[in-house]
Amino acid sequence: MTALTVPTDMPEPRNLVAGRWVPGGDPTVAVVNPADGQVLTTIPDTSEAGVDEAVRAARAALPAWRSTTPFQRAAVLHRLAAAVRDDLEELARLVTLEMGKPIGESRGETAKLADAFDYYAEEGVRVYGETIPNEQAGVTSIVRYEPVGVVGAITPWNYPLELIGWKLAAALAAGCTIVVKPSEYTPSSAVRLFALLQGAGVPDGVANLVLGAGTAGRALASHPDLDKLAFTGSEATGAAITRSLAKAIPTSMELGGSCPQIVTASADVDDAVAGCLRRGFRNAGQICIAINRVYVHRDVHAEYVDKLTAGVAALKVGPGLDNPDVGPVTNAEIRDRCAAHVEDAVARGARVRTGGTSQADRAGTWVTPTVVDDVPHDSLIVQEETFGPVVGVVPYDTSEEAVALANGTDAGLAAYLYARDLGEVFSIGHALEFGNVAVNNPDAGIMNAPYGGRKGSGHGSEHGREGLHAYLQIKHLRIRYGK
Ligand code: NAD
Repeated sequence: MTALTVPTDMPEPRNLVAGRWVPGGDPTVAVVNPADGQVLTTIPDTSEAGVDEAVRAARAALPAWRSTTPFQRAAVLHRLAAAVRDDLEELARLVTLEMGKPIGESRGETAKLADAFDYYAEEGVRVYGETIPNEQAGVTSIVRYEPVGVVGAITPWNYPLELIGWKLAAALAAGCTIVVKPSEYTPSSAVRLFALLQGAGVPDGVANLVLGAGTAGRALASHPDLDKLAFTGSEATGAAITRSLAKAIPTSMELGGSCPQIVTASADVDDAVAGCLRRGFRNAGQICIAINRVYVHRDVHAEYVDKLTAGVAALKVGPGLDNPDVGPVTNAEIRDRCAAHVEDAVARGARVRTGGTSQADRAGTWVTPTVVDDVPHDSLIVQEETFGPVVGVVPYDTSEEAVALANGTDAGLAAYLYARDLGEVFSIGHALEFGNVAVNNPDAGIMNAPYGGRKGSGHGSEHGREGLHAYLQIKHLRIRYGK
């Protein structure tokens, strides 16, 4: 396949506030192509005053937007979905340029962004209230769902479009207005997405964009006039944001993973290996629900590790625009963390089966896909989120041991179980302390089922009906209509 060309016309890095493109300040934050280290664009880190302007715009637009009917909002969201599909190639190309993933995966992400707008358009017209019996005659109680209000949304770089889209789609469908701050590593696909809003009929001020890094993020998270904050990112930033809130508003915290895969003696080993190849190495392992650590029953351990090692060694690594299996990692922090995690495991007695070689001298930020075997429980690969193309394998003897090891960290986002014995499927599946458990398949999340974490992986749901209700609040309306 021929490589696609790198465009010279990156979108101008501006904020969208009240329907106008405005500068967010001096361009100080360089956005780098992880495939070659070249600077693609430079963005501002929007000041407190710039963020305040955007929140004010969202507040001013709220009364009119919340008064529209869900059907009117659905029409806007369907038009936005169509606009995203029309612009799919360019949006996908910007994602690959800035974060490095294979262009096929970027196209898939963009297509799913459009699907999210369609999904919430439809879910938004299915918000039903309730009536509740009263002791007194002539009195009725109605439970209504109303928009929560002005939302601040802060997102990471690993799925730059989808992670904005889930929040934007649900918030708009619910009748909320929103200010989005995308990651400083991946601003341009967000700028291009927001350029589609006006054409789709999103009124000025309903959805605002502020670019930047920590300054903009802190200003938005601590803004006193937000009604809700939706955050996806690392556990450390989630904790900092929770401490910085100006008042006790509802939050959604979609935080880090470090997800286990359990492979029992009854598993189809080839299927389990294929699952790990997809969920451990797709997007160069930079997925909150990526498999980071594998617990394999000792009876099938050697077969599993040999097959996984062969599969990982065969992965094609290269620039995302060439559509390889694995692209570069997005930044030097990830590259260096992968190296540190492998080094730590080896120092504790683990064995590298493939990969593990440093690519620190190569232009761009690269990590060779790596499998490490016999990884001890106290190693960084197990205890922390590596967030790169590195998987650690641990043999186990009993189901109780596997469950205790899988549950034995602060991570509670997703777990994967491969087993054909129904008793194992139910007993292990129920015992895993994770918000999402995928059995005999590598896809833990679907658009119409709730998705969220537990423990250190956060709280709240995106996707499904619950993902919409995250942007709604309850009102009990008690009406006496009799004498
Ligand atoms: P990050 O926490 O470093 O940054 C996330 C966002 O927060 C960025 O927009 C950043 O600019 C902003 N930010 C940084 N400091 C801030 C502060 N003090 N106040 C407010 N905002 C601030 O995360 P990242 O490196 O961009 O993303 C990777 C992480 O995201 C991983 O831990 C991954 O597991 C997690 N993630 C979770 C999910 C999920 O659904 N649970 C999905 C994707 C990614």
